Amino acid sequence: MTSFGTIRSKGVPVPPKRIREIRMIATKLRDIFGIRNCAYCDIVQILEYFGSTFLPDYAYEIVSDSDPLLKGKFAETFPQEQIIRIKESVYNKACEGDGLSRFTIAHELGHLFLRHKEDAPFARLMQYLPRPLETWRDAEWQADVFAAEFLMPYEIVKEMSTQEICNSCGVSRSAAETRRQKLKKPNWQ
Ligand SMILES: [Zn+2]
Repeated sequence: MTSFGTIRSKGVPVPPKRIREIRMIATKLRDIFGIRNCAYCDIVQILEYFGSTFLPDYAYEIVSDSDPLLKGKFAETFPQEQIIRIKESVYNKACEGDGLSRFTIAHELGHLFLRHKEDAPFARLMQYLPRPLETWRDAEWQADVFAAEFLMPYEIVKEMSTQEICNSCGVSRSAAETRRQKLKKPNWQ
C-alpha cells in the first residue's frame, strides 16, 4: 500500500526477507522477463502483460481519481487475491515515464512477487509484547527494496551518478539519490 506523504506508514509484518534475498528475486524476475541487462525497465508492460503469465489469478484495476476506493493512496495491492488497484492519474503518468509513478507500480508488483502474506503468529506476538517492527519484516520496506532492486539493479547502477541513474532507469531524482547513498553501505553491496 502506498500512501501520500514523505513518510510511508509501516506495513503489516510478513516473513522476514533481507536485501540479498530480495535482490535475488528481482534479478531472477529480470531474467524471466528478458530484461537482465536493460537499464530502463518498462514496468507498465510488466504490469499489463507479464504478471498474468507468472501469477495465474493476477488482475489489475485502474481506478478513477475521484473514486473513494483509493482515497489518500496512489495504489494498493491485495496479495491474497492477487489484485493491484492503481489510480488512473498514476497509471497515466507511469505510461508517460514519470519516475515516482513507475516506482509506485514496481512497489505494488513487489507485494505480489514477494508473495506477501501476513505473518500472523508474529503479529500476535507484537500485540502481546509491543515492540517495533524490524524493517526486514515490514511488507512496505520489502516492497520498496524490491522496487529499487528491480528498477535500479545493483550491477547496472553501481558505478553511476545520481543523474545517470535518473536518466537511464527512469526513476525520480530522490529515488536515484537514495539508491546511490544506500549502495555505499556494505550491507547493500
Ligand atoms: Zn505497499
